[in-house]
Amino acid sequence: MDIPQERKVVTEIPGPKSRAWFERRERAVPRGVANLHPIVTARASGAIVEDVDGNRLIDLATGISVLNVGHTHPAVVEAARGQLERDTHTCFHVTANEPYIELAERLNAITPGDAPKKTMFANSGAEAVENAVKIARRFTGRPAVVTFDHAFHGRTLLAMSLTAKVMPYKQGMGPFAPEIYRLPFAYPYRWHGDPERCAEQALAYALDQMHKHIGEENIAAIIVEPIQGEGGFIVPAPGFLPGLARFASEHGIVFIADEIQSGFGRAGRWFAIEEEGVVPDLVTSAKSLGGGLPISAVTGRAEIMDAVHPGGLGGTYGGNPVAAAAALAVIETIEREGLLERARATGERIMERFRALAERVNQVGDVRGRGAMCAIELVADPATKQPLDPETVGAITRGALERGVLVISAGTYGNVIRLLPPLAIEPALLDDGLDQLEAALLEALT
Ligand SMILES: *Cc1c(COP(=O)(O)O)cnc(C)c1O
Repeated sequence: MDIPQERKVVTEIPGPKSRAWFERRERAVPRGVANLHPIVTARASGAIVEDVDGNRLIDLATGISVLNVGHTHPAVVEAARGQLERDTHTCFHVTANEPYIELAERLNAITPGDAPKKTMFANSGAEAVENAVKIARRFTGRPAVVTFDHAFHGRTLLAMSLTAKVMPYKQGMGPFAPEIYRLPFAYPYRWHGDPERCAEQALAYALDQMHKHIGEENIAAIIVEPIQGEGGFIVPAPGFLPGLARFASEHGIVFIADEIQSGFGRAGRWFAIEEEGVVPDLVTSAKSLGGGLPISAVTGRAEIMDAVHPGGLGGTYGGNPVAAAAALAVIETIEREGLLERARATGERIMERFRALAERVNQVGDVRGRGAMCAIELVADPATKQPLDPETVGAITRGALERGVLVISAGTYGNVIRLLPPLAIEPALLDDGLDQLEAALLEALT
């Protein structure tokens, strides 16, 4: 790690160089490609991002959950560099490459379930979702796909159609893909029924809807994030996912776990759904899979994956050897450094602080998470649970940035602060980041 793992603020943030770059950016890049922070990166390592003004920021956002192993991890850089020099790209469909095959073997081994599995690669999370649905439809010969409130599955046409929130992801971009059905998610904090019976009631409603309004024999797939990411780190009430999976298996429906944000150690396991004892039929991975390089995967039971005829799946860059070599190094790093355990320890440290904060600040309506996937949901008033307005949430993330800490929000109402630090962030650095976030939060709320 060539950047000291310390926060260092040397200019106001954003500094003059970031501001100058952003003037050029305004002219050259459309506003639709939004920036959460007006900062330009010079370099990054471990849990530190250094901007072009020389500020060292503690990164509790990690490129939206891409750097579970930390920035520019030496093993990942080394693997990618070596592969880059040997063979950059031939296209797997023209001549295959070793990292692709080896990575498929590794994913087949670490994903839940003992049945024979196969893996295909694409470039982004959205593409993995698209492919999972294609495979499920071809396997079942059915059209319908069930998705949930607060879901995020990506920005391509089908993935955007599966995504819940209209603004900003879908506004003005229809018509959307057909045969998509959205059901309520078992969201304990905002459940409209009996909070004690959230899983049971959400499940009963979902099964009834699938039976009455879609018809089991029309449903190709149920796609669900085991812990919702963009939707606000919503951990479903225990029992909801196993109930859905049981229903899927009884009716020949493909159960797809979208682990793009919750997987690869983030929730303290390789895949978050392991905690529920559910073996999904298909799993999508992306984000931290490549440790910063673009690669995504669909892994699933061999007979489902093989339902598609030769030539029915693929793409020019899917499983690019440089990205696949990086991903192999990510898996080795998670194993060698015991990052699943480190994730749980990091998460405990965060949750302790969050719980203490909730005791003192009544606008902290909910504290939730698993492993190092932790969030607070902010409300204007805990009695009504009215979401805190996005401007105040923005003031908190901006306040943290000005103090040298990168945090991002999430949630259907934009009122959730989520933390996605590198899994093995040093405790002292994490504490410093949490101190700054807390100071920004107290300042914005009082
Ligand atoms: C980020 C994300 C996606 C989309 O991934 P991209 O690489 O941005 O296309 C899909 N599903 C989930 C759960 C995600 O968090």
